[in-house]
Amino acid sequence: MASQKQLDTIAVENFRQYLRIPSVHPDINYEPCVEFLEKQAKDIGLEFSVFRDVPKNPMLVLTWTGREKSLPSIMLSSHMDVVPVYEKMWTHKPFDADIDEKGNIYARGAQDMKCIGIQYLEAIRRLKLGGVQPRRTIHVTFLPDEENGGLRGAKQYINTENFKKLNIGFALDEGKHGEGNTLILVYGEKRRWSFRIHCTGGTGHGSLLLENTAGEKMRYILDKFYDFRAEQLVKKIEGNSTDHIISINLTILHGGVQNNVIPDEFTLVFDTRVPDEDFEKFEDNVAQWCKDAGKNVWVEDLRRDDKYPNTAADDSNIFWVAFKEAVQLEGYKVDLEILSANSNARLYRGALIPTLGFSPNQDTPVKMHDHDEFLNVNVFLKGVKLYTHIIPALSNA
Ligand SMILES: [Zn+2]
Repeated sequence: MASQKQLDTIAVENFRQYLRIPSVHPDINYEPCVEFLEKQAKDIGLEFSVFRDVPKNPMLVLTWTGREKSLPSIMLSSHMDVVPVYEKMWTHKPFDADIDEKGNIYARGAQDMKCIGIQYLEAIRRLKLGGVQPRRTIHVTFLPDEENGGLRGAKQYINTENFKKLNIGFALDEGKHGEGNTLILVYGEKRRWSFRIHCTGGTGHGSLLLENTAGEKMRYILDKFYDFRAEQLVKKIEGNSTDHIISINLTILHGGVQNNVIPDEFTLVFDTRVPDEDFEKFEDNVAQWCKDAGKNVWVEDLRRDDKYPNTAADDSNIFWVAFKEAVQLEGYKVDLEILSANSNARLYRGALIPTLGFSPNQDTPVKMHDHDEFLNVNVFLKGVKLYTHIIPALSNA
C-alpha cells in the first residue's frame, strides 16, 4: 500500500499535470481533459461517464457508487475551463505549473479551480485505500464553460436527462477560502445586474454654454452612483457583513465625436452585484436617479440575472449540519457568506439542488483571474485531507 508520502507525491503530480492542460478560453478543446480524467478514474477505481449533450463542451462524471443507491447522491462540482492570461505579466509560464522554492505552484487554474477538482479525487483515492465505502453515491463532476456564465455548460446540462439521472440531493461547489481556523461557506450569490445609462442632450458648438447637455446629466448620474458606492464602501470598511452590501463599478464610458462639438449622448456602463432582498429598492433608486438627471436619460439592461434561491444553512439542512460537524472535529469553525461573484452553484440552486460553495485552501492570497495565480503545495495537501473528512460526512448524512 502507498505511504502517505507517496500519496502526496501522486496528488501533487496529478494537480500539476491537470494544470498543464491549457483549457483556456476562448475555443477550448476539452479532449485532453477527458483523456486525463478518464485515466484518473481508472487509477482510483471510479466509474467514468462523458456526457456530450452540448457539442464541444463535454461534462465528465466520476462516480463512486454508494451502499444505498436509491438515496439522493452528492455532487462534488468543479469546472475545467480557465480564464485567459496576459502571459507577459507572469513570472512563470502560465501552463507549466512550475514550483518554486517555497512550494508555490504557478499556473492559471491553480486556484480557480483545478485545485478543487483534483483535491476531491485525491481525497477519494485515500478514502478508498482506507476501505471506506460511501453510503450515498458520490459524483465528482467536471463541467465546461463555467467562466462564460455556464452558457454552454451547467446552464444546459442541468436540464438534460443525463444530469437528472444523477439524482443529486446536495452539491458542493467552488467558494471562497478563509483564514486560520475559520472556513467560509457560501450559501447564496448576489444578483448581477449590468446596464448602460444613456444620457442624451442638445448638441452644438463647443464654445457655447448650452442648457440640457449630455455632460450635465452624466455628471448627475456619476454623483449619485459614486455617493451610493461610497456609502457601501464605508459599510464594508466598518466590517459589516458583505452579504448586505451592493457593489457598483463604472466599467465603460462612451461619447463624443470631436473636441469642439457638444455630443448628443454619453453612455455609462455599470456592473452591480445586488443582494436579492435589496434588488427592487436598488432598481427603484436607479430609475429615480435617471429621472432626476433630466430629460431623456434612460437605462438599457445588459445582463440582469434571475433570482436564485439561497441554500438553507441551518438545522433544516442535514448536509450543512454534517459539513459543520465534520470540520469542527478538525478544529475549524465556519462563517457563512453570500458571494458577490457568480459560479455554477447559483444554477444548481436554481434547479432546487441545495448547494454550498467552499474552498479548503486557507490563508492564500486571492489570485483568481490574476497574473501569477498560484497555490502552495502544503495548502493543497491540507485541502485534500480536509475533504477526506467532509466527503464521508456528506455521504453518510
Ligand atoms: Zn471558478
